[in-house]
Amino acid sequence: MTESPLWPETADVIVVGAGPAGASAAYHLARHGRDVLVLEKAEFPREKVCGDGLTPRAVHHLIRMGVDIEAPGWHRNRGVRFVSRGTTVEIDWPESARFPGFGLTRSRHDFDDLLARRAVAAGARLWTATRVTEPVLDRAGRARGVTALVGAGRRPVVCEAPVIIAADGVSARMAVALGVARLPRRPMATAIRQYYRSAARHDDAFLDIWGDLRARPGGPPLPGYGWIFPMGDGRVNVGLGLVNEARPEPLDTRRVLADWLARTPGEWGLMAPDAPDGPVRGAALPMGFNRLPHYTRGVLLAGDAGGMVSPWNGEGIPYAMESGEVAAEIVNQALARPPGPWRERVLQRYPAEMHRRLGRYYRLGNVWAGLLTRPPVTSFLSRRVVTSPAAMRYLVRLLANVTDEAGGDAADRVINALVRAVPARSPRPRRSRPR
Ligand SMILES: Cc1cc2nc3c(=O)[nH]c(=O)nc-3n(C[C@H](O)[C@H](O)[C@H](O)COP(=O)(O)OP(=O)(O)OC[C@H]3O[C@@H](n4cnc5c(N)ncnc54)[C@H](O)[C@@H]3O)c2cc1C
Repeated sequence: MTESPLWPETADVIVVGAGPAGASAAYHLARHGRDVLVLEKAEFPREKVCGDGLTPRAVHHLIRMGVDIEAPGWHRNRGVRFVSRGTTVEIDWPESARFPGFGLTRSRHDFDDLLARRAVAAGARLWTATRVTEPVLDRAGRARGVTALVGAGRRPVVCEAPVIIAADGVSARMAVALGVARLPRRPMATAIRQYYRSAARHDDAFLDIWGDLRARPGGPPLPGYGWIFPMGDGRVNVGLGLVNEARPEPLDTRRVLADWLARTPGEWGLMAPDAPDGPVRGAALPMGFNRLPHYTRGVLLAGDAGGMVSPWNGEGIPYAMESGEVAAEIVNQALARPPGPWRERVLQRYPAEMHRRLGRYYRLGNVWAGLLTRPPVTSFLSRRVVTSPAAMRYLVRLLANVTDEAGGDAADRVINALVRAVPARSPRPRRSRPR
């Protein structure tokens, strides 16, 4: 890391967290010539619990950051293979003017490091091993900086900037410190994953999704799916994600994972004693804009910090990168105005713009995630929908949000019309009990 000077440090913009949201925000701000200081508690490269799956929507954002996706280390996939009740359906990613017709995988160990390097190459300053502890507020309660502890010696520093982008992930420390609570009625999921060595599956051309996970044999299908994503380096990333629901007793997700893997073909080698490569690790998925508002008192929330994981399929990387870029564009415009009410009006455009882009889609997705917790619905989906190539050709576009807005085919037009028919929601939270 760069040696941080004594105190205080100043910048045009402070970005807290250098995951996909923070790196994207920093890259796009630096490209505008802004002095952006990124504070990241970890040292890169570092592990991040993830499925490592990148849909065409995520690839689109990598290209926007100038990432060389032809370089070694990326593994391409051509679509999704759905497995449910003994039936297998393979669906290619649709080719469109907006999104490429392929996805990728890359371990987050490399991926986040690579994105952070893109931001630094564009001119951003990155301080790693720097844990932000809290916002510094002015007399009016607006954030004017942050306090942080730097390095192994935990040296305290204050960093000041007129605008802060909080991209600190699901813990959302900055948002919590500013009193921005999670909305209890919006969905959360829990996901676990483990790497396995598998000569048979590591360079597969599809992302495998298994749709009929169960807590016990003969029990109802659980609200989520299992995945086997080929990494192209001898390993597969295997995991499962389940929408949280009220249960009489806690679900043992590791047991569910083990029972499911016992059903995979023996030649895949996933049950071999030496197949696991590293421990099972898990984390929460904050979905469907479950933390609002996305802007308050000088701080914009991007990615998981703003609950931006898709309630349709649990992917968060493309939305983290998109929100980082939108935040960067709006902050750049705001900084062109003098401090005061007009700058504030420009910053207020961020939540409005995120809702314009994703509000209706996520609102419908939150209904979808709620329906998944009803056994008759999951049973119907796993039996009738996931096993039908015709249905899955539509559903895959809706789940991964890869329709063309203009000039798309009939499937795109149907899905776009469906999403547009959903009433828009306010980008501000309705009054409800915080959790
Ligand atoms: C098991 C699992 C599987 C998943 N699989 C996929 C998948 O296949 N595809 C997909 O698209 N999404 C997937 N997701 C979701 C995806 O991982 C997240 O949505 C994505 O990482 C969000 O990016 P972010 O930048 O908002 O947050 P993060 O990636 O969490 O980055 C936040 C950063 O902030 C730093 N930070 C936190 N607190 C502080 C602090 N106080 N001071 C300084 N730095 C701080 C952290 O160290 C971290 O680097 C999965 C999630 C899980 C849990």
